[in-house]
Amino acid sequence: MTYAARRAGETPLPLAIAVDGDGVRYTDAFLDAVMRDIDGILWQATGPAAGPPVHGDPLHPGRQRDAMEHLWCAECGRPPGRNDDGMPWALAAPTPEHTWEGVNTEVPPICETCLGRVTAACPSLRAGHVVLRVREAPLVGYRGTLHPRPGQTSQPKADTFVPLISDDCRYLIAISLVRQLFGCTVITSHYP
Ligand SMILES: [Zn+2]
Repeated sequence: MTYAARRAGETPLPLAIAVDGDGVRYTDAFLDAVMRDIDGILWQATGPAAGPPVHGDPLHPGRQRDAMEHLWCAECGRPPGRNDDGMPWALAAPTPEHTWEGVNTEVPPICETCLGRVTAACPSLRAGHVVLRVREAPLVGYRGTLHPRPGQTSQPKADTFVPLISDDCRYLIAISLVRQLFGCTVITSHYP
């Protein structure tokens, strides 16, 4: 997923954070402002790109967000196009599911031009995938590290889903936007 993939060097920056009643923040006020989106959500900061895409790692937070928000192809960054059944989407799926209706995904759509290349190159898709056409894909939340509130003794929880409207959003450092897929038509599937 060349467009949205992390490139070598784009690893998480070990920024100092603080947690108070307002939520989690980077203690560097400039970085804290830069790393918030227009909805005020704080995003993971990464180092600068210094090499080729790293397939199989989590997607780059900023480009995942852009591609998912605008519905751009994760591979080429262009709009994937629609037909009567909606837009193309490829999901990693090691085993068949009865239905994909209502499934949450943090992988942006993949256009038909890129589909063959992506399913051959991406390790998680090579291990099994389904290609869907999707009519509706509302944004439903974020995935990231949820930090405990002041007074809580628990550890930060990585890879946690937080719904859009949740008050937990203030305590999240996000790495991806999540959409839920509806009106799904299975086009092809591959289970090695
Ligand atoms: Zn594409």
